[in-house]
Formats: sequence, structure tokens, C-alpha cells
Amino acid sequence: MTQITNHLPTKELQALDAAHHMHPFTEDAALAKKGARIITRGKGVYLTDSEGHEILDGMAGLWCVNLGYGRKDLAEVAARQMEELCYYNTFFQTSHVPAIALAAKIAELAPGDLNHVFYAGSGSEANDTNIRLVRRYWEVKGKPEKNIIIARKNGYHGSTMGGGSLGGMAGIHAQGGLPIPNITHIGQPHWYEEGGDMTPEEFGLIRARELEDKINELGVDRVAAFIGEPVQGAGGVVIPPSTYWPEIQRICDKYGILLIADEVITGFGRTGNWFGSDTLGIKPHIMTIAKGLSSGYAPIGGSIICDEVYNTVANSGEDFNHGYTYCGHPVAAAVALRNLEIMEEENILDHVRNVAHPYLAKKWSALADHPLVGEARLIGLMGTIALTPDKATRAAFASETGTIGYRCRERCFANNLVMRHVGDRMIISPPLVIKPEEIDVFIERATKSLDETYAEIKADGLLKAA
Ligand SMILES: *Cc1c(COP(=O)(O)O)cnc(C)c1O
Repeated sequence: MTQITNHLPTKELQALDAAHHMHPFTEDAALAKKGARIITRGKGVYLTDSEGHEILDGMAGLWCVNLGYGRKDLAEVAARQMEELCYYNTFFQTSHVPAIALAAKIAELAPGDLNHVFYAGSGSEANDTNIRLVRRYWEVKGKPEKNIIIARKNGYHGSTMGGGSLGGMAGIHAQGGLPIPNITHIGQPHWYEEGGDMTPEEFGLIRARELEDKINELGVDRVAAFIGEPVQGAGGVVIPPSTYWPEIQRICDKYGILLIADEVITGFGRTGNWFGSDTLGIKPHIMTIAKGLSSGYAPIGGSIICDEVYNTVANSGEDFNHGYTYCGHPVAAAVALRNLEIMEEENILDHVRNVAHPYLAKKWSALADHPLVGEARLIGLMGTIALTPDKATRAAFASETGTIGYRCRERCFANNLVMRHVGDRMIISPPLVIKPEEIDVFIERATKSLDETYAEIKADGLLKAA
């Protein structure tokens, strides 16, 4: 399809973008010189840019467009809801049908006694809610000093003051006085980069036991909760060793601290089950959700809360003094509900488990034979490859971290494929609806991009270990 919606020439759009649009996670002056890539439309797993390129989106936007682009059924639901009731709040003892119906649906899908939904507009906001909620829980329990939340280095929980503080990203903490008080971080279960000579299983236990050490160091009376992504996403798709989560669960159970699973990426089918916690055997008290909840068709997030935490806060005799204007926004809620219904009607989990994952897994793991690839891993439809100058030792490159990953990403773009890089690691998270023939195109473009990156860095003398 080469048809382009009528719009200004790319150069003019880029000039206006540079003049008036400040981008997230971007050095704007550098981008202004280069000009942003402008995406004009999307259909299925493909994007079209302002120059007419058809780009296979291996990231589903930012891990969210799980049902693929351009679905008329979701657009129609939004239009109908805007006519029926475009907005009303849920603050002052009011509610509305979309917020009610979606909460009931989420409670039905969520495991165990995760029966209560507090809405937010995004994953970051939902994690800000979680900070206030777990602290409120312990206040009501008469333990206001039990307010420290333990998170992980290189975790990602959003970029608000709260979310950015829970996350363990050095670049975020370096700006603007983060983390906020009473949030602390332990090591991540990243065996490939940090596991040395240990087996992944040994290393998983060691990293999980840092939680126990941290609880003992702080005193259990100070610790409110632990938060983690079942599989770290933005940190580079870090699939933890099999020993990690069972040990984290044991420690949380032993010390009676609340466990928050940040399911913003792993929720709603990404790992082949409704939740990453199902896949990894985690029993959280609270789940953070956003992204795939609406397949990105409308901004919506939230916290799914267990009976114990809900009952405690709900029965405190006081208001929980927290909320957002757009909590449970009716249009976003209606779209999210329809998104979940479509996932059931079209057996999307079955497609991920029995079609897309096995088909992609075979081809993805074969990429590990490429001279530039140190490991290739995939869980559900969340994948990663580590680039390395030396497979045997899992060596990093001598060049500044991210140099080679960035070059590979640029080659991917040039070959009409979106893969993201985190340092010198490439990551993918394609729409869950991706078909085998589209996976063929994906792998063909990815292989070509790896070949070109390899040739390029060899020619430039960058194929050197640190
Ligand atoms: C994206 C993400 C968030 C933040 O969500 P936003 O909607 O961008 O605020 C939080 N947690 C995880 C695990 C994420 O991947």
C-alpha cells in the first residue's frame, strides 16, 4: 500500500515538530537537526511513514498495540461511547457503566482474589497510586513507619516522580532529584550481563536473596512492599532465571510484605497467559496494568488490588485521598473492555501460545548462530538478542555501551523494521496478532539488519571486546 494521507511535506512537518513539540526521552536539539520520523498510519502489524515506507512494527508501538493497528471495531466503540457519555467522573459517589463493566471484566481475568480495580491514565500514574496505596494500607494497620518500597536496579515503572523513583534506571535518577525518599533498590536477575561464572539458577537465587538481606538491613517494620516486573521490559527484556521468582515469593510470604507485580507490559497476553504472574507463578497483592489493557487505542491504566489490601483501605473509616480526573474515563474504559472481549473472541492467547510463539521461537533462537549475537531469548512474544564481539565470553563491546545497538536499530529502520535497542541489546514485542508469514518478513529484515551492522562495525574497527 503506497497511498499516503494528504499532509504537508515531511520537511515542513519536521520543522514544525522541531519548533513546537518537545519529545519524551529525547535530546530535542539533536533531533531537530536530524528531523523526526513521522508515522502517518497503521494497519495490522505495519506502520506507514510520511515518505510512504511500510514498516513492520516489531515493538507494537511501545509494547501496547497488541491487537494491531487500524481496527474498526475499537474505533466504533470509542465513537459510540463519546456520543453516549463522553466523560463523567468517579469521585463523588458516582460511577458509570464502562468503568463498572471493565472493572468486573478485569477482576474476572485476574488470578486469585485480585478483585478490585483503581483506575489511572497510564502505567506511571498507576504506580504512583501503588506507592500511596501500600503506605496507606500500613497506616491503617497502625504501622505508618512501614513505608519503604524495595524495587530493582534497571527496573522500569514509569517516569513520574513516583514511577521514576520505583524504577532503577540510572539515567532517570540522575535528573531532578530522584528517587524520592523511602524507595530503595536491589540487584536485578540479569544473568547474561551480571551472572559471571554462576549458573543462571544459582545467580537467580543470589539476586532474590538480596531482598531478604535488604529487609533484614532495614528491619521488617520499615518495609511496606516489593515491586518488580515479572519480566523486565525497558531494561532489555530480562527473562529471570527459573529460581528467581519462587524465592522472591518465599521471602515476601515469610516477612509478610506486600508484593506488587508491574504487569504493564506482561499483562494481557504478552507472555502467553493473561498475566506474566500466571506464566511465572507469582502471587501478587497488587498488579500494575496499562499498555495492552486497551491495545494502546486509548490511554488507560490501573491497579488490580487483592481483597486484603482493598478491605483494609476501604474500611478505614476515611476517604482514600487520591484520584485522577480521568480515573476510569468512559471512552478509554469502553475501548479497553472491547479490546479484552476481542482477545477472547479471537482466541488471542491461543494464537500466542500455539502459533506465533512457537513459530517465532524457532527462528529467533536460530539468530543466536549469527556472529554478532551472544544470546537470543523469547518468552511469549517478548524477545531479546544480546550483541557481542565474542560469543564465548558474552563480552561487551569496547565502544561506549549502546553504540552498536544504536547502529543496529538504524539498520533496522533502513530495512523497514522497528526493533528497539537497550544498550547493545535488541528487543522486540510485536503485536500479539502477528501471523507466521509476517514473522518470516520480520526475521528476514532482522537478519539483513544484523548482517549489515556486522559488516559496518567490522569496517569501522568496532568489533572489539571491552
Ligand atoms: C511503560 C511502563 C510503565 C509506565 O507506563 P506509562 O503508561 O508509560 O506511564 C510502567 N511499568 C512498566 C513495566 C512499563 O513497561
